Amino acid sequence: CFCTANTIEEPSTPPIQVEHTQLLINGQFVDAASGRTFPTLDPSKEEVIAHVSEGDAEDINRAVSAARKAFDEGPWPRMTAYERAKIMYRFADLLEKYNDEIAALESLDSGKPYEQAAKVEIPTVTRLFRYYAGWADKIHGLTVPADGPHHVQTLHEPIGVAGQIIPWNFPLLMYAWKVGPALACGNAVVLKTAEQTPLSALYASKLFHEAGLPPGVLNVVSGFGPTAGAALASHMDVDKLAFTGSTGTGKVVLELASKSNLKKVTLELGGKSPFIVCEDADIDSAVELAHFALFFNQGQCCCAGSRTFVHERIYDEFVEKAKARALRRVVGDPFEKGVEQGPQIDADQFVKILNYIRSGTENGATLETGGERLGSKGYFIRPTVFSNVEDNMLIATDEIFGPVQSILKFKDINEVIRRSNKSRFGLAAGVFTNNLETANTLMRALRVGTVWINCFDVFDAAIPFGGYKMSGNGREKGIYSLDNYLQVKAVVSPLKNAAW
Ligand code: NAD
Repeated sequence: CFCTANTIEEPSTPPIQVEHTQLLINGQFVDAASGRTFPTLDPSKEEVIAHVSEGDAEDINRAVSAARKAFDEGPWPRMTAYERAKIMYRFADLLEKYNDEIAALESLDSGKPYEQAAKVEIPTVTRLFRYYAGWADKIHGLTVPADGPHHVQTLHEPIGVAGQIIPWNFPLLMYAWKVGPALACGNAVVLKTAEQTPLSALYASKLFHEAGLPPGVLNVVSGFGPTAGAALASHMDVDKLAFTGSTGTGKVVLELASKSNLKKVTLELGGKSPFIVCEDADIDSAVELAHFALFFNQGQCCCAGSRTFVHERIYDEFVEKAKARALRRVVGDPFEKGVEQGPQIDADQFVKILNYIRSGTENGATLETGGERLGSKGYFIRPTVFSNVEDNMLIATDEIFGPVQSILKFKDINEVIRRSNKSRFGLAAGVFTNNLETANTLMRALRVGTVWINCFDVFDAAIPFGGYKMSGNGREKGIYSLDNYLQVKAVVSPLKNAAW
């Protein structure tokens, strides 16, 4: 291990068995039609974990047909909502039972610390499925008091077949955000996982079928974006597309949807979130929270607090302490206890991040610590801190998606509002202050989908999440996500006696 500080204790990993590597179509694990497979890697060791079936357009066709049949002929949308909820609750129980096994698989495939997966992420997935199971039998329309002698009501109906494309940074959590509301509303799903992290969704979906999910309701296709992903986005028989990934790919899938059947599209895209530390802040707490906001999950969070704005009066002390904290960050084998940071997901991201770091130095930012690879095997990068960062530097405008903290200086609130909002992204923001006036001003002025005040990355199932501007459209989680998966039908019938 490459611990940068603390000594690490014995690992406590449950045994990892990669049982499922085929595509899951119509309730069966099957090979890809082409027979092709692709390797999925352990980013800590750069070694192959398993060869996974590589779905392409033909497999997407098969999966969409299965989903279409499950939706059109039932039983899923025709079951009582309570029956659907019971299956989702049973699934959540199984997720809880196999929490550690799933966490180990997630950690192996993505490089995230096992403790983070086991204690935070998989329990959050379980919570999400219970939350949406709870919604299943509470979805209903309205009786509308329209003018004229008519009885008017609305029916809230499932849309049909939902195509879902997810990224690799929180594989099973992204699965839960999408599959949970879609199935609670009675839709059928075809989900394409990210090519870097196909394993946990297959494992979990097997459990879902054990819980009683009828065949065809949830189909999981592993494969690549331009083949399987594009086929799903442009499929004529898919009624809704939910996408999470980069802004560039978001534009591509929106175009594919518009060129095919104008399916309804929701997008969760990138970000460059400000984390604003005001002059009244307790510096030690602010440093710790800003560190967490950026470095959590190897810096691979769409909402990472990647522009740390610090008031000029406390700037120098903050930078010193942020540097010291980054130096203390424990980087190493994700399965070792106490490790805070594992490897980046793959060679592409690793190279991209190191290039951004180089640009930061070339553009005149001060490299306080880090800035290079750690060790010689695995995609590990030293926790990196830049000070004296200017707004127009690439490290302040682009999503780096890595463990690189950029610290900027500001003088007053209006200035930091203007600079925070001067971004093509608008996903989230952090505000650190004890001044109620300042907090109230900032929370209203920031053009972002989430403002965390004196906290960060709070992801309760009930809290909506999504972006302003080029961070996407639509909201996931909470009551808001149900809208993504429902159609509203107005039903009008004449009343014989208008007085009644
Ligand atoms: P990506 O856009 O390359 O890939 C995301 C998914 O899209 C993958 O499943 C991929 O196979 C698929 N894809 C790629 N090209 C495609 C195409 N032409 N047609 C259809 N599908 C295609 O993104 P990434 O690098 O894997 O993920 C990181 C990005 O995701 C970051 O920008 C991050 O901010 C964003 N993200 C956003 C959120 C959010 O909720 N807003 C959450 C997690 C990640």
